[in-house]
Amino acid sequence: MVEIKTDTALDAMRPAGRVVADILAATRAAATPGTRLSELDEVARAILREAGATSPFLHYRPSFAPTPFPATICTSVNDAIVHGIPSSYRLRDGDLLSIDCGAVVDGWASDAAITVAVGTPRPEDQRLMDTTRRALEAGIAAAVVGARIGDISHAIGSIGRAAGYGISADFGGHGVGRHMHEDPSVPNEGRPGRGFVLRHGLVLALEPMFLSGGGDAYYTANDGWTLLTADGSRAAHFEHTIAVTHDGPRILTQP
Ligand code: MG
Ligand code: MG
Repeated sequence: MVEIKTDTALDAMRPAGRVVADILAATRAAATPGTRLSELDEVARAILREAGATSPFLHYRPSFAPTPFPATICTSVNDAIVHGIPSSYRLRDGDLLSIDCGAVVDGWASDAAITVAVGTPRPEDQRLMDTTRRALEAGIAAAVVGARIGDISHAIGSIGRAAGYGISADFGGHGVGRHMHEDPSVPNEGRPGRGFVLRHGLVLALEPMFLSGGGDAYYTANDGWTLLTADGSRAAHFEHTIAVTHDGPRILTQP
């Protein structure tokens, strides 16, 4: 069931979005060569604690997961697409790191992600990041009253495909509200003019994730969580939680 939020609820969702933006800024700054992924999780935990927020990631256990998620952020390095667990791995110069994060404030959730190059970016990684971010921007621009979910999916997917990247059909965007994952789902590829009609008060997380090798296939690591590209190529992931409004899309997870 798709829940449409009141204007009061839209305002109440903004503080959680700010906490998520703060965590992404702080973990991005901390993601330097030599830093452990687990240290980035500690950075996120401190900000959540300071803000009086809770983590919708910590102990989260969707149907596909064998164990509850053990951290407050996902850290997905190089060929990891999403859902990487912050381990003791030390970041190296040239790594491509996706950081995904959520927060709950006053019962409202928010969800956003960025991909960053650690140290010196490879040119092909820069192109992958720029394209994935551009697809997110196109998806947000398509999230207007009267448009449909398929318009967002098409805007995102056509940019990824035009660049030659792969897209997994199994993971994409979603509604956000009292729960981090709500209806409707927002695939990263689709046909324009299809699907749920967007209304004022609909809150969505849009999250293109592109696989640089061009294949769509992935597999799950032994930890039961991390999704890796089947061809070993690198992946990028950008996400914002946005509200569809009469005044156009409102990004809830910007600083
Ligand atoms: Mg996310
Ligand atoms: Mg999400």
